[in-house]
Amino acid sequence: MLVLAVIVGIIISVAVPATYCILMLRERMQDSKLHGELLADSVVLAIQDNEELWRYDIPRFMDIGNRWRNQEHIVSMRVYDDNRQLLFEKINRAESFALFTTRAPIVFNASIEGYLEIQESYLDLLVNSGITLFFFSLLGFLLGRVIYRIVASAERITREAVDELTVSQKRLQKMAVTDAKTQLYNATYLFSAVKDAVELARSTDGFLKLAILDLDYFKKYNDFHGHVAGDTILAELADLLRQSVRPSEIVGRFGGEEFLVIMPNLDDTAALSLVQRMRTMIAEHVFPGAEVLPGGHLTVSIGLASYYPGMSSTELMNQADRALYAAKEAGRNQVCVVSGRDFFINGIKLVSVGNIAFASKTFREM
Ligand code: GH3
Ligand code: MG
Ligand code: MG
Repeated sequence: MLVLAVIVGIIISVAVPATYCILMLRERMQDSKLHGELLADSVVLAIQDNEELWRYDIPRFMDIGNRWRNQEHIVSMRVYDDNRQLLFEKINRAESFALFTTRAPIVFNASIEGYLEIQESYLDLLVNSGITLFFFSLLGFLLGRVIYRIVASAERITREAVDELTVSQKRLQKMAVTDAKTQLYNATYLFSAVKDAVELARSTDGFLKLAILDLDYFKKYNDFHGHVAGDTILAELADLLRQSVRPSEIVGRFGGEEFLVIMPNLDDTAALSLVQRMRTMIAEHVFPGAEVLPGGHLTVSIGLASYYPGMSSTELMNQADRALYAAKEAGRNQVCVVSGRDFFINGIKLVSVGNIAFASKTFREM
């Protein structure tokens, strides 16, 4: 873009004056040759009139020379005889700079009787070319600037449009994986993230833990305060969850009041302590209106499952879901860990899961 502006600038500012100068010089030289020849012819007439004395016919040359006075660019006129002796000299002005000389032979009766020499100045042409150069340089510069501005603003507009498009594309991409209520990852994203995490754990033989959190008695909260207040609680809870995980962990809203935490590379102890921390943090947080709930606090139950080689992502999620169910059965505000076929709360193995109700009092103190 800059190159284009510079090229246009140079063409206009240099090429135009240079062409002007060359053309004018050519014309001036042609004119000059013609003048010389015409003048030589008029000298020949003088010879015819006075064949012997033409060399001394100064008034006639004066007359011819005076006529050239009007031609500003003619500096001098000289007549030489055939021995190159100066016979006559007419100097319009003393100038020694930027001159060119035209010499025409004076031919009479097929023999050269003498020479006529005219000196002309091309200073005026140089000055004119300089002025032209200046104006065209200015024009070239201005035009270059205009072109530069037009192209630059077109580029800027294009860049802004592309940026805008990229931003809205990113926004759309983010919207596609974000839950509108909580700004956490949505279920669609979580399903594929669990799949990816399982695949990574399988290929690297690494750890992978999955936790499902479910709000306790949330229906009661909604029934009492309404769904809008309930939504506010979900958003507040989401903030707490977001703050309690590291960038390597993924937390999202899985369903209505259920959340998922994907924990790659955490062993049993680290994963359990992370979700326990989440549970206590939520239980200790003061949510507005939570006093209407059993226990007077908003709490969550958590099911924690481990990936074992050969497990599919669906199996892993089912395991976590069953552990969550066990935590609910055990009295809520609990973390239940599933390991193989066994379920543990606070290190104590549960007798059974599903149809058998747990002795909730035993596990509630966690
Ligand atoms: P528990 O899980 O402890 O067994 O009891 P719960 O009352 O939380 O469980 P239940 O499955 O009976 O009800 C879940 C409630 O969560 C139902 C609905 O009122 C509430 N819920 C689900 N999604 C939303 C939502 O997006 N906004 C609000 N405000 N409430 C929701
Ligand atoms: Mg619930
Ligand atoms: Mg639920």
